[in-house]
Amino acid sequence: MEGKLSSQGRAEPIELDDFPPFSVRQRMFGPIELTRGCIWACRFCQTPSLHRACFRHRSVPEVRRWVRQIRKAKLRDVRFITPSALSYGSSDGSVHLAAVEELLAASREEIGPSGRVFFGTFPSELRPEQVTAEALAVIRRYVDNDNLIIGGQSGSDRLLRECHRGHDAESVERAVRLSAEAGFVPNVDFIFGLPGETPEDVRATLTLVGRLTELGARVHAHAFMPLPGTAWRSAPRGSLEPVRKHLLSLAGRGRAYGQWRRQLELAASVSRR
Ligand code: SF4
Repeated sequence: MEGKLSSQGRAEPIELDDFPPFSVRQRMFGPIELTRGCIWACRFCQTPSLHRACFRHRSVPEVRRWVRQIRKAKLRDVRFITPSALSYGSSDGSVHLAAVEELLAASREEIGPSGRVFFGTFPSELRPEQVTAEALAVIRRYVDNDNLIIGGQSGSDRLLRECHRGHDAESVERAVRLSAEAGFVPNVDFIFGLPGETPEDVRATLTLVGRLTELGARVHAHAFMPLPGTAWRSAPRGSLEPVRKHLLSLAGRGRAYGQWRRQLELAASVSRR
């Protein structure tokens, strides 16, 4: 009103089952939103500030209904969007493998023999401490992706604690080893230039990156951006100078990829504003 921002406060959380994940009528298909909100509240991430720090899941019968629509539209691929794929059916940090299996089995059955199911890859990544041999066996049974995306973010336990990540560097290495043993190519997200990153943190991250690439992982590199609404919204943008050469060398060998150069430009623009 009169050029002023007016707010009625935060809306009440919705039931995901009450909202379609895409428009069948307009043929605008996309990933099925499985889960909204996230309990971890990592300090760099917008998901909990936009959607609250609690999980709401779409039910299996509703997922089935929308997979059926994908098949009816003669499309083949089922993808999901969730902050943490192995959190499906859970209200806390635990994994309910029976719920994950019910979801994947239903999706596989509905999409039929010529369809494909993707889970544990973008945009439905895995948290490292939730990756176990049992969970990977369940995923393997139903999915068509040959790679997984694991949120690592840093090799420094100190920085992981600062981020409120809720896992350590060792769990990232274990998740990568288990994923490779289960026949997946692990891609690991890292954020470089996090607030307060010291030369020791950089060394710890590059040491972990070296161990992971030896195990067959690829690094999905990001530059830290102070995103609006996050705990680190006022932090200075990240610098990749200490790791630039290393990343370029990894990228040259096909062991790293990502939009980190573009993110540096974006971070500069966000910081200016
Ligand atoms: S980074 Fe992932 S685990 Fe952390 S708050 Fe965001 S969605 Fe949740």
